[in-house]
Amino acid sequence: MSYQNSTIVVTYGELSTKGANRKDFIRQLRLNIKKALEPFEEATVSYTYNRIYILCKNHDPKLISEKLKWVFGIATFSIGYPCELNEDKLKALALDLAIKENKKTFKIETRRRNKKFGNSSDYINRLLAGEILRNSEYQVDVHHPELRIKVEIDEKQAYVMVNQQQGAKGYPVGVQGKAMLLLSGGIDSPVAAYMMMKRGVQLDCIHFAAQPYTSQNALEKVKTLLGILTKFQPEFKLHIVNFTPTQLEIYEKASESYAITLMRRYMVRIAQKRAEQVKCKVLVSGESLGQVASQTMESIDVINRAVSMPIFRPLIGMDKNEIIRISKEIGTYETSILPFEDCCTIFDPKDPVTKPKLEKVLKFEEKIEVDKWIDLSLSDIEVVKISFQNDEFF
Ligand code: ATP
Ligand code: MG
Repeated sequence: MSYQNSTIVVTYGELSTKGANRKDFIRQLRLNIKKALEPFEEATVSYTYNRIYILCKNHDPKLISEKLKWVFGIATFSIGYPCELNEDKLKALALDLAIKENKKTFKIETRRRNKKFGNSSDYINRLLAGEILRNSEYQVDVHHPELRIKVEIDEKQAYVMVNQQQGAKGYPVGVQGKAMLLLSGGIDSPVAAYMMMKRGVQLDCIHFAAQPYTSQNALEKVKTLLGILTKFQPEFKLHIVNFTPTQLEIYEKASESYAITLMRRYMVRIAQKRAEQVKCKVLVSGESLGQVASQTMESIDVINRAVSMPIFRPLIGMDKNEIIRISKEIGTYETSILPFEDCCTIFDPKDPVTKPKLEKVLKFEEKIEVDKWIDLSLSDIEVVKISFQNDEFF
């Protein structure tokens, strides 16, 4: 069988609970699928109320599947073939697919959305199973079949599918609007990115660089991490802040133990301003409760009080091991552990305060002209687009 007719049949994710937003969900998912499949120039995407169909043309459906498995909003997808609403043709196609799959046991699962064809689902199950049993060594196993052949009967045609795979689930990126992620080069923030994108949030990213204290390699690492994440969101804007002058000012004016707390307050302030400029509604960070001194409840409280915008922390209740597991799954781990310095590691105080006092923080901040340094940072931002066409990342 050539690729010509191969069609990938996509079922939607968490739609049942989202009744009113069904249209937005499907529209966004179609756009995201089209974008993800841009390298497959001939492939076309169509949809119905229940399914998205990708006609693969001359492209290998397995390669297309590799891209699809990262697209949020997809519950399942299967490689299938369209068929006329004709019993003999359905029988021939099911048999052909079964023989090609070369397994021992099978089960047919039919779903009839078009009730005019084929008496009942069970009738079609028996019709196709009979054909396979008569013409091959296959046996039926309804509980644990090695091969599940799914048949969907629609108004104008049927689809016969094998090897259904689980999709990435969640909501299509973009249905929830935009957020600004504070992206470092570590393990956590790329995982936080994944968690938010899975909920349908489109991300812009802000990175605080402290050159010459941090190297070009450290920045390249952040770009590589974003490149890996383009399998979930095809394009990111990375806002790179030159944070060195502000950091030096903080270290001059504040006691060493409070430097990280102050630095974090500056980071979220700058991130909030930038977020407002580019229409992001919330900030996102990779903090996890108790992981380091700046991630205690007291620290988080003091950091939050620097801004009015909500800060989402999707990793707040997760163990490092769980975070590492996800980071390996999504492919960011190996890059995250590369040993390049981060702006926080360079200025890492020996004894950071774990329970910062707001009054003390405010005293230090009186000595620093807060707005001046924020404006300075905002005027020194480079924006880089990271796009999935950089195929080296796959
Ligand atoms: P990560 O693994 O994401 O670097 P971490 O465990 O090293 O996190 P911290 O260094 O305390 O923890 O950073 C906590 C969060 O603050 C990060 O997850 C990220 O959201 C943000 N952050 C830290 N450093 C930077 C930076 N240089 N630029 C942008 N955001 C940063
Ligand atoms: Mg870090």
